[in-house]
Amino acid sequence: MTKIKVDRRECEGSECAYCVFTCPMEIFMVENDQIFIKNTEKCNSCEMCIYICPNDAIMVGEG
Ligand code: SF4
Ligand code: SF4
Repeated sequence: MTKIKVDRRECEGSECAYCVFTCPMEIFMVENDQIFIKNTEKCNSCEMCIYICPNDAIMVGEG
């Protein structure tokens, strides 16, 4: 099972939201200015979110 984490100290939330629009599996969503993660079982480990995040706030790994 893939584990996905967003470091809220680094994340810019709705000011950025690149990950929301980049993830092909729609795993990130923005709500109340914060990023939330859903349906992690759909993650295909493409790492596009890691690549696109300007603040290195996303971690994707097996766990
Ligand atoms: S791309 Fe990074 S900084 Fe931007 S909303 Fe997503 S986790 Fe936050
Ligand atoms: S690794 Fe790919 S599928 Fe998984 S959360 Fe990131 S962008 Fe989405």
